[in-house]
Amino acid sequence: MSYHCPSQVIVEAGGLKRLSQLTSGYDTVTCVTDEGLLRDYRGQLESLLSVTPNWVKVSDDPEAHTPGGINGVVIGFGGGRSIDTAKLIATATGLDWISIPTAASHDGIASEVASVSHNGFKYSKKCKTPIAVVADLDIISRAPPRLNLAGVGDILCKASSLSEWRFAYENFGESFNEDAYRVTENALNSVLTDGSLEVLVRAEIDAGRAMCIAGSSRPCSGTEHSISHAMERRNHDLHGMQVIFATPLCLHYLEERGYAIQSQESIHKLMESRGLPTSLKAMSMTPGLFYEYIVHALDLMERRERHSILAGVDKASLMRTIRTLY
Ligand SMILES: [Zn+2]
Repeated sequence: MSYHCPSQVIVEAGGLKRLSQLTSGYDTVTCVTDEGLLRDYRGQLESLLSVTPNWVKVSDDPEAHTPGGINGVVIGFGGGRSIDTAKLIATATGLDWISIPTAASHDGIASEVASVSHNGFKYSKKCKTPIAVVADLDIISRAPPRLNLAGVGDILCKASSLSEWRFAYENFGESFNEDAYRVTENALNSVLTDGSLEVLVRAEIDAGRAMCIAGSSRPCSGTEHSISHAMERRNHDLHGMQVIFATPLCLHYLEERGYAIQSQESIHKLMESRGLPTSLKAMSMTPGLFYEYIVHALDLMERRERHSILAGVDKASLMRTIRTLY
């Protein structure tokens, strides 16, 4: 299988300075960001670029700002929405794009997968891989702590996605890639043992790389992600908070089948110690609502031809487990 990973990955304090060299060969630069970041970083970014960028705010309609020129580059500077918008513009126009995350809130900072909303639900769309990822640790360390905490959630949930991937492969013949599995597992293990920001950022970039290697989001996204997508309609909490919230439930059933690479209990303890949501109350949810999300998630998994560890589990068991764990 051929795959393309970001050719340059820069994770360092002051890394933004490297942008000059990364964009020097392009005739046009389109930069997607949000209002607040534009105010704070416009001067710095413009001083680093050889051409004045075409600014696109995430609140704008990206299609109204289709960049001109064939030798252009698109920069996503910000959180999930800015980066996803840059990905979508680059994919639609065929231009190169550079990811500059300003928070470590999810593993999409280096991946080719964008999260797209449709009818109130979110789904993943395969886009282009960035030519470079510039993670400036000075900038990311200034992000609201809750954003970076959500990123921890998006890595810890790999305990569920990886376990389920192997389960689906061994029992239902889903396609599997050992390299992608190992890269994701190493990313998970690094965050399990080290709480530093740099380790988190590198784990997120590696998770993105694993998705490139696998050619799908499967290593990093299982039923816990589908539950998060189902939650989107009513709950607009951060992606990482939603996926980690659903993780103990999936791990419980993976453990029953002998597939959990981390126990439900150990992940639950870690979630509590790091301040991640572990109770229905923390997510303003009832057991019945959680069950509804699971039903919708199972439908999403089936449509994507992915086998869920929760498929075939009856309602009584799910309700009992929800009440016990949450
Ligand atoms: Zn995720």
